[in-house]
Amino acid sequence: MPVLVMKFGGTSVATLDRIRRAAKRVGVEVAKGYDVIVIVSAMSGETNKLVGYVNETSELFDAREYDAIVSSGENVTAGLMALTLQEMDVPARSWQGWQVPVKTTDAHSAARIEEIPPANIMQKFGEGMKVAVVAGFQGISPEGRITTLGRGGSDTTAVAFAAAFEAERCDIYTDVDGVYTTDPRICDKARKLDKIAFEEMLELASLGAKVLQTRSVELAMRYKVKLRVLSSFEEQSDEAGTLVCDEEDIMESNVVAGVAYSRDEAKMTLVSVADRPGIAAAIFGPLAEAGINVDMIIQNISEDGRTDMTFSCPTDQVARAQKAIDGIKASGELNFSGVDIDESVAKISIVGIGMRSHAGVASKMFKVLSDEGINIKVITTSEIKVSVLIERKYMELAVQSLHDAFELEKA
Ligand code: ASP
Ligand code: MG
Repeated sequence: MPVLVMKFGGTSVATLDRIRRAAKRVGVEVAKGYDVIVIVSAMSGETNKLVGYVNETSELFDAREYDAIVSSGENVTAGLMALTLQEMDVPARSWQGWQVPVKTTDAHSAARIEEIPPANIMQKFGEGMKVAVVAGFQGISPEGRITTLGRGGSDTTAVAFAAAFEAERCDIYTDVDGVYTTDPRICDKARKLDKIAFEEMLELASLGAKVLQTRSVELAMRYKVKLRVLSSFEEQSDEAGTLVCDEEDIMESNVVAGVAYSRDEAKMTLVSVADRPGIAAAIFGPLAEAGINVDMIIQNISEDGRTDMTFSCPTDQVARAQKAIDGIKASGELNFSGVDIDESVAKISIVGIGMRSHAGVASKMFKVLSDEGINIKVITTSEIKVSVLIERKYMELAVQSLHDAFELEKA
């Protein structure tokens, strides 16, 4: 039997009613003759609640225990989905990550999937089971401890299963009907894309478009998994949603495919650092060891042998970053006069593979922002994107004006 992977996100399994609705969708695919692997998230809000418990208990928590706690939400929905399917006379069984097993690295709270041996589940399919419901977001480390894959990790679970089982397709059911040119909640002209290239999706995902976890797109690109994003709240045809695919499968596209934003960014500056070989390593080594996701980095030109070093990271990592920086200062390896922290910035990015062959895209972006009186604090660019840090209160305005200026409402 061909295998299909169907992933249901938190809002699609938020209540027993919604689980029933999702189970019906699964039933439709089973009736078409597929063996189905269903990947479930925790009920919406559940993972946040669990993370909240962890944070309240311990600010600099032990990530092994974090994983033990936050992985539990998916166990509930996996069991409930299997039960619901059984009630509909669909032979189904739930699987926690360790039972499959989903083998991961030991990078707790941000583990990577290393291997998913299909044998156990395939044997059950052979014995007449039609649906394997797998708890997303979790796996097992080489030492046999529970791991999680980072927030949004069920998407990655889904794509990894699709690759491991050579599934015909990986359908990601969510609360939106596809991938949009930008977030429809802050820009009412946002338009659903029928197709988007893996590379664009990768940028959009890593830039904060929450619809797919970045790692899932990386995996889909590497293993050429046919990945589809669609709504679990609408009747679906085989062409619904957005197909994330190879660049070659897209005939015509806009220069800019989408505008992404990330609201909760912080900017930290080490003021007056000695400018000599090794300073960047002395700063970013300890930050990396502390698990800080440093994003943008700028080093100013130096004056009298001293310079400022600025970087951005998510606001919820500021305390941890500050601690790492205190450690650098205490070690005496590096001296600087102070640390400036700005926790009120947001990142806005434009993305499109068309930028490779079109000049002037960045300057147009800067002009649009300046026309709105928005000050740019940091700029970074890559082959297919331009990102800026701006004051958070201008975030919506920036997204809307860029969407207009690049005419993203038009296909
Ligand atoms: N429940 C986890 C989270 O909210 C994983 C997921 O839903 O993808 O991050
Ligand atoms: Mg998600």
